[in-house]
Amino acid sequence: MAKATEKKCSFCERAESEVNILFTGAKGMICDACIENAHILLQDAGVSGKAATATPAALSLHKPKEIKAFLDQYVIGQEDAKKTMAVAIYNHYKRLNQEDDEVEIDKSNIIMVGETGTGKTLLAKTIAKLLQVPFAIADATVFTEAGYVGEDVESILSRLLQACNYDISLAEKGIVYIDEIDKVGRKSDNPSITRDVSGEGVQQAMLKLLEGSEVLVPPQGGRKHPDQKMVKINTQHILFICGGAFEGIDKMIARRMQSSAIGYRSITATQDLDRANLLQYVNSQDLRSFGLIPELLGRLPIVTYLNPLDKTSLKRILTEPKNALIKQYKKLFSLEKIELTVDEDALDFMVEKAIEFQLGGRGLRSICEMILRDAMYELPSEKGVTSFHLSLAYTKEKLQVEKLQSQKAV
Ligand code: ADP
Repeated sequence: MAKATEKKCSFCERAESEVNILFTGAKGMICDACIENAHILLQDAGVSGKAATATPAALSLHKPKEIKAFLDQYVIGQEDAKKTMAVAIYNHYKRLNQEDDEVEIDKSNIIMVGETGTGKTLLAKTIAKLLQVPFAIADATVFTEAGYVGEDVESILSRLLQACNYDISLAEKGIVYIDEIDKVGRKSDNPSITRDVSGEGVQQAMLKLLEGSEVLVPPQGGRKHPDQKMVKINTQHILFICGGAFEGIDKMIARRMQSSAIGYRSITATQDLDRANLLQYVNSQDLRSFGLIPELLGRLPIVTYLNPLDKTSLKRILTEPKNALIKQYKKLFSLEKIELTVDEDALDFMVEKAIEFQLGGRGLRSICEMILRDAMYELPSEKGVTSFHLSLAYTKEKLQVEKLQSQKAV
């Protein structure tokens, strides 16, 4: 029996508990059964739903240089990653728009290696913004092999569906970013007696999604259960981007390069290598040594890397991107009719602290928030204030080192 307070379909008045899914609109709700009925009526009337949704051909092809220029507006540095992504995205959509199937172009799924907070998620998110396709982020660590506690890998696609209001044809052209892929690396080379449910098992489960097949997805996410209504999604055109910090992979890269130097090249060749940033030489073989299975790597053919952020990049992140933090605060103050000015040495100090406490790009926001909170609290109630100047002295006064310390531990 439906409770009086329960949400109802505005068309058939069935309660939420009596239907599979209830979609909420601006002024009403509709259940899955009414949608199905409406679809049949539309088909009978000869109206095709296709016109309403974008076909692959409608996705305009941005040239690699245009993609890179767009990324430049949001992502500082990471030139190699941006170029690799631009070409991969271009080829991905060329493949989508391909009309003949003489030569089958492989999917350009991407894997990014780079320390946390260097812009991996930001890159994936920015690409989705440019292409105006649905985007979903998932953390590989929450997935486990089917049958164990945790989420099924298919729930990534549920998030994609949710991101485009359950429009399947849009979801089928979306982008999925899977973070912390390094955490599902095979734990050891020996197959153990206890099953590795969160490591290799998850990688195996991901294969089906990545290669492009029809997958049954529980629309609300979570675990699949027998009475649940499933939605079929074809992952053939979904672009998967994986990212991970792969801590310690530099040693594997060094070892590989060392052995190839002995085998094929002169030792002096390796002496020219940039020892400080070995990540730039990363390849699938290193990811395999780290614990990713070859089948998965085969489905993630594009490997790229992100540089650690140095002082200059962090300072640029504060001020340069289209939605840079300082620009955002200036806007917030200007809405209050107050002009915010910031001294260069105050910016330098914030960056130094972000580096000192290893907070990366992500920590800059909490640093800014900590410093500007009191001003944002007090100024709106003060009359006649038209400007606020952020000096080094003020920055030092407001920065609470203990709080930064605690964030480092997280
Ligand atoms: P991760 O590599 O861990 O996925 P994110 O992309 O989530 O890192 O970065 C966290 C935040 O730090 C971003 O939202 C952004 O504000 C900032 N940031 C990190 N790297 C960059 C970068 N290269 N350019 C601009 N902002 C960046």
